[in-house]
Order: sequence, then C-alpha cells, then structure tokens
Amino acid sequence: MKVRAGDIADLGPAFARRDQAQVDSYPQDNVADLQTAGVFGAPFGPALGGAGWDTLESTMAVEELAAWSPSTALLAAMPLGLAGAFASDDGVVPGDYRGRWLDEQQWLAGQYVAHHIFAACNSEKGAGGSLDATKAVARRDDDGRFRVSGEKILASFGEHADYFFSTAKVDPAEVPGCGVVEFFFVRTDAEGVDILGDWDGFGMRATESHTVVYRDAVAERMAGYPDFIATMQPLTYWFCLFAAIPLGCARSLLRAVGEPEPVSPALRLRVSEAVMRYEALRAYLRETAREWRPGAGAEYAARVLRTKTYVTQEATKLCAELFALSGGRHYRRTSPVARTFADSFAGTALRPPLPLGLEQLTEQFSLGAAGTAQEPAAI
Ligand SMILES: Cc1cc2nc3c(=O)[nH]c(=O)nc-3n(C[C@H](O)[C@H](O)[C@H](O)COP(=O)(O)OP(=O)(O)OC[C@H]3O[C@@H](n4cnc5c(N)ncnc54)[C@H](O)[C@@H]3O)c2cc1C
Repeated sequence: MKVRAGDIADLGPAFARRDQAQVDSYPQDNVADLQTAGVFGAPFGPALGGAGWDTLESTMAVEELAAWSPSTALLAAMPLGLAGAFASDDGVVPGDYRGRWLDEQQWLAGQYVAHHIFAACNSEKGAGGSLDATKAVARRDDDGRFRVSGEKILASFGEHADYFFSTAKVDPAEVPGCGVVEFFFVRTDAEGVDILGDWDGFGMRATESHTVVYRDAVAERMAGYPDFIATMQPLTYWFCLFAAIPLGCARSLLRAVGEPEPVSPALRLRVSEAVMRYEALRAYLRETAREWRPGAGAEYAARVLRTKTYVTQEATKLCAELFALSGGRHYRRTSPVARTFADSFAGTALRPPLPLGLEQLTEQFSLGAAGTAQEPAAI
C-alpha cells in the first residue's frame, strides 16, 4: 500500500521518543523508517515507485514530521523536495530535452527505491541565500565530465547522504542556454568531496548540517536541462516544505502547553489564541502549496515568497510565546519543549532566509491577492 501524508502521524511518537533517548544524534532510525515507508520518493508516480504526492501532501507530511521530530522534518524536506521537482512532467521541459528528462526521472526514482539519500548542498558563506551570489563553479574536463569546485555550508545529512545536489555556475560556452546556476548531482564519496564535521547548530542539532568543500569533484551529472531552476521553478516546492517546519514546531509546542488542559483562565485564553494563529498559518500555507505546479510563473513565485516569509516568521514568534508560557519545568536545555523552540528558528534561516525574503518582497512590491478579487487558483 502506498504511503499517505497522514501515515506520518503513526510514526511520529516513536520518532519523538528516539530523539529524546539520543538527544542531538543524527536520527538514523527515523530516516530508515521514512525510507522503508517510501516517504522521500512519495512525489514520484506509482510507475516510478512513488505514491504520486502533490505539493500539498508533501507539505502536510513535513509539518506532521516537524510536530514530532523537527530535525527529521528538515532532513526529509531536502530529498522530498527534489523528488517533487523531478516527479513532474507537465510540459515545462523543452522538447529537445524531453527524452533526457524522462531518463533522469527514471534514474533518480530508482536511486530513491534503492534508499540512496539525496541531500541539498547549496548554501554558501556570505551569499545570503542568493543564487546570483553563488561562487561554486562547474567546468567540463577533457573527458566531458563536470567538475565542481567551491565551498558550501549547512549541507544537512553530511556523511549520511549518498548524493549531494549542488548549485554551481557554468560557462555558457559549455552549457548553452544556461541559467544563473545549474544543479549538479555529486556522489558524497567522489574524489574531491570533503565533508567537514563542523556543525554546531543552535537548534536542529541532529541534522548534521556541515560545511562541504569541493575541489574539482566529479559530478555524476548536471540535473535537468539548461536553465532548469528558472524554467521549472523547483525552489518554490522546497519553500513550501521549509515553511511547514516551524509550523509543525508550533503544533508540537501547542500540544505541550495544552496537555493537560490548563486550569488558569488566562492560560486557556492565550492557548486558544495560539490555536487560532496556528490554524490561520496552516491554512495560508496549504492554500499556497495546493497551487504549486512546475513553471508556475512570477506571480505564483511571489505568493510562495510571501507565504514562506510570513509563515516562518509568525510560526517562530508563536513558538517563542508558547515556550514562554510553558513554564519553568521545560526550562532545561534538553527538554523537548526547549529543543523544539530552538529548532523553530531554523525556519527563518532556511532558503530564502528572512532578510533576503523581506528584501525581495520590497523589490517586487505587490498587493498580492489584496490587489485582486481572484481566488488563489488564478494567481
Ligand atoms: C538548520 C539549517 C539547516 C540547513 N540546511 C541546509 C541544507 O541542507 N542545504 C543547504 O544548501 N542549505 C541549508 N541551510 C542554509 C539555508 O538554506 C540558507 O540558505 C542559508 O542559511 C543562507 O545563508 P546564511 O544564513 O549563511 O546567510 P549569510 O550569507 O551569512 O547572510 C546573513 C544574513 O544576511 C542576509 N543577507 C545577506 N546578503 C543579503 C542581501 N544581499 N540582501 C538581503 N539580505 C542579505 C541573509 O539573508 C542572511 O539572513 C540550512 C540552514 C539551517 C539554519
């Protein structure tokens, strides 16, 4: 039977128990359970071994995961988003590349079925989350293979990944029609890949988000086709998943503060307010995620930017308030409530990090849905 987003709720309590038993350790067993259930590759169609999840289902799954194990949710978001971007076959792929695309889809889905982990290794120090500012480069060698050089930071999964997918700039003479950057699949055990064990996160400590140095590392292949990121717009898929992480943290803290039911009327009121805020954020995110499609265009990208910025910012504030209400018994570094509070802040750092999101909102100022009477389906 194919996995459903709701099945995560059955796995969650065990994930939380393991996290508490092995605080800050890479959640090996949680990841293995998700792989066995086929969660990472769930967006692929059944013919490719997946469950045909759409973006809404993936977003709901990440939120559910985050409500039990935020680090597992952050880890899962990376391969899940990649599968989501590669599962689609919606006429966006240029005709010349269609055969290659279908081959690659098959290859990638097969890797997921073999339980190979694909991790994101894109961020760079000082780039502020901007693709333009990427310094890593990929050049063709004499054998026609791409070799990647540069330094990446915050590559979750670290040594536990089998492949990284990494952005790098290319020479337009080598890749005609290329975009600002292209994605490359690099085996983590390839020569020239150095994974530094330097992760010391404030929250999300179990994600093993290390620095990675590429020195002429041979890429297995360039992903997709030239200008894939601009035309397919896969990043917006991940942005929906990233917003679901602090939202799930807020749900987890609500559970902690609301059970057992508070006796204080003041506390009951504050928790009721928190429930309304959580439900409003969730509805906003789900409405946006439901509309995802490949190459959806600039207006939809702006909508996702607003959603990701708002939901992460407000969910993190909500987590801070709930932590404050949770009381002294949770004021221990290793209490699940304290750890979830710290984990929630990663949402504002995840791509696009909050300052960059705000910067882009002002650059592309728009009234969004407030400027029109249309339903989101038409944005
Ligand atoms: C727990 C965790 C896990 C992560 N996992 C991954 C992962 O698996 N793979 C991955 O690739 N990345 C990952 N990231 C990185 C994340 O996705 C961000 O892209 C990255 O954090 C952005 O870089 P920075 O925060 O180091 O920003 P810096 O470059 O250090 O900039 C600092 C701040 O200034 C802002 N800023 C800088 N320049 C500008 C500008 N020109 N305009 C506006 N604002 C600017 C930035 O937005 C940022 O908030 C992870 C981050 C965290 C916290």
